[in-house]
Amino acid sequence: MKTFAIHTLGCKLNFSESSNMARLLSDAGFVRSSNETPDILIVNSCAVTATAVKKSRALVTRLHRQFPDAEIIVIGCLPALHPEILQQWEGVSAVFDSANKTQAVDYITGKTPVKGARFVSAYSSGDRTRSFLKIQDGCDYHCSYCTVAKARGESRSDTIAHVLTQIENIARLDMKEVILTGVNVGDFGKEHGETLFMLLQSIEKQNIIPRIRLSSIEPNLLTNPIIDLFAESSILMPHFHIPLQSGCNRVLSLMRRRYSRELFKEKVLKIKSLMPHACVAADVIAGFPQESNEDFNETFLFIKSLPISYLHVFSYSRRENTPAADMPPVPYPVKYDRTQLLLQYSKMLHATFYREHIDETRPVLFESENTRGLLQGFTDNYLRVNIPYDEKRVNCISNMKLSREILVFPEEDGQFPGL
Ligand code: SF4
Repeated sequence: MKTFAIHTLGCKLNFSESSNMARLLSDAGFVRSSNETPDILIVNSCAVTATAVKKSRALVTRLHRQFPDAEIIVIGCLPALHPEILQQWEGVSAVFDSANKTQAVDYITGKTPVKGARFVSAYSSGDRTRSFLKIQDGCDYHCSYCTVAKARGESRSDTIAHVLTQIENIARLDMKEVILTGVNVGDFGKEHGETLFMLLQSIEKQNIIPRIRLSSIEPNLLTNPIIDLFAESSILMPHFHIPLQSGCNRVLSLMRRRYSRELFKEKVLKIKSLMPHACVAADVIAGFPQESNEDFNETFLFIKSLPISYLHVFSYSRRENTPAADMPPVPYPVKYDRTQLLLQYSKMLHATFYREHIDETRPVLFESENTRGLLQGFTDNYLRVNIPYDEKRVNCISNMKLSREILVFPEEDGQFPGL
């Protein structure tokens, strides 16, 4: 009986795909190994930044040293962007890019691989409280700094009917929350004549899981009917993650983003007018090539003018073979200072968001971990709560009055998990 282990880096999509692969391999008779030397090692890689590539390489080198007899298979974004690693990295015996990840399972189990990019459904089941369900993959946008679209291929989606079946499967595992994920989830369904709005409506109607969250969605694809649906729904969680990237239209156009700062503002204000308690997180890139001091100030003032709950701040990272790689860079110290300023501001925003909810009563889904005698959970609007461990509350939703004592303010925990 062959054994395998999977190591996953990068985004939640990778984690849900790894979880799925583990299920498929277990179903095919392979045994997941924890401590023993595995026969097969799968590295589900990330190549979104130069640091991510380095991490993937370091992991492969370490695994090969530790388990010289194991067969190492690298899958995901790294082989998509750097197929040469098969020849150049010691110990790697096969690679499968993101579009063909499941061929790795066919390869391991000895089945004939299916050629060509197609949508492959996946959901995570490691954590028994919530599951990341992949509904879409790939991207047809061509943002000038991004290699994700190239790494994961063209946009493709699951069908509404199959997503509903997957949610039934997840509900059967007694999970209480599903996070709908994808590379560009707002693009869901276009090849089947379906839309994300239609999917959300169907999930609402199906009503078999208490909580649905949406992962990051492009502002131009977050339509007003979707926002209205969230405002009316009891299962769609008031938690939005919307990439802004820059609050300056000149920089947005250099980035080849498909919206203006005005549109972003309209979406955030609509959300907050209908759901004042909603959590709205935004991604921002600091130090994009040609971002002048004026451009950055415009971004900073724009963010300050909006009711955003916190930021995901990224320092621009140059990626080979992208249009942005040929643009004049911002000097490193300037980029560093801009990044730090945004990070500091985000901490302040996040703490303010927490303070605003003290004394409110909100539903908390408690998770299964017993960390240092504590039970952790998240409110509908993604505030983190810790209470003394109480087995009866595990994997249950309880209405909790939020106090300074039970809220875990983000500055008290550097490990605040994002979606
Ligand atoms: S929307 Fe832009 S940044 Fe996001 S994956 Fe697609 S190309 Fe990359």
